[in-house]
Amino acid sequence: MRFCILASGSRGNSVLIESDHARVLVDVGLSARQIALRLQQIEVDPASINAIVLTHDHTDHVRGVGVFARRYQVPIYAHPETLDNITYLLRDTETVHPWRQKFTIRDITFRPFPLSHDSDPTVGYLVMHNQRRLALCTDLGVVTEEVKIHLQQADAILLESNHDPDMLLNGPYPWRLKERIASRVGHLSNHNAGEVLNAVLHAGTEWVVLGHLSEENNTAGLALETVLEYLPSAIHERVMVIEQRRISPVFQL
Ligand SMILES: [Zn+2]
Ligand SMILES: [Zn+2]
Repeated sequence: MRFCILASGSRGNSVLIESDHARVLVDVGLSARQIALRLQQIEVDPASINAIVLTHDHTDHVRGVGVFARRYQVPIYAHPETLDNITYLLRDTETVHPWRQKFTIRDITFRPFPLSHDSDPTVGYLVMHNQRRLALCTDLGVVTEEVKIHLQQADAILLESNHDPDMLLNGPYPWRLKERIASRVGHLSNHNAGEVLNAVLHAGTEWVVLGHLSEENNTAGLALETVLEYLPSAIHERVMVIEQRRISPVFQL
């Protein structure tokens, strides 16, 4: 299995996951055109995408989904309530697949798990192929036991490290928005990310990618530095940060 984070952050999110037989986008949070351009940068033909899988209905995760699905005739897999919430985007989309539990697209299996966020439902996914597991876990205000159980099983993790609490507190956002971000249905701070990784990482964890960074209330350097303080040095070189404007490397798992 290979994966590439095409975009991560409050301006848009999308992850490409592929096996030798399947190509899946998790979220389409940039315009369809931007997603297609980013796929072409890693030599993936947008028309070769087999499915779109959604985590929740916030704009930074669904912005381009309708246009992309129609343009390239791609089916969409999401929680039925998420699909209901974005019907305005899905007119004339050919196929939607509401899921209620684990589902498989060709040879890649997705196991959703619930996240505490201000869109309900929001899910993370444990993505499985050939005994290998990737956890996608962004957009959550707190880390529940259920989240930990899923992260522990992963060989690679994309985890939100959204904000630095001091930058958030002293930053430009209105008070209400600051409260929302820091709440149980908001986003994880760098310290929250460090704590959960300290609890779930094991010798077999190959990659940890920190994502969904706030552009106003965080920096890549600060996120990495803070998270690494929580982790043994043997694992430091396997941790990296993704910035909003750049495509990640293609990770092999
Ligand atoms: Zn988001
Ligand atoms: Zn969200």
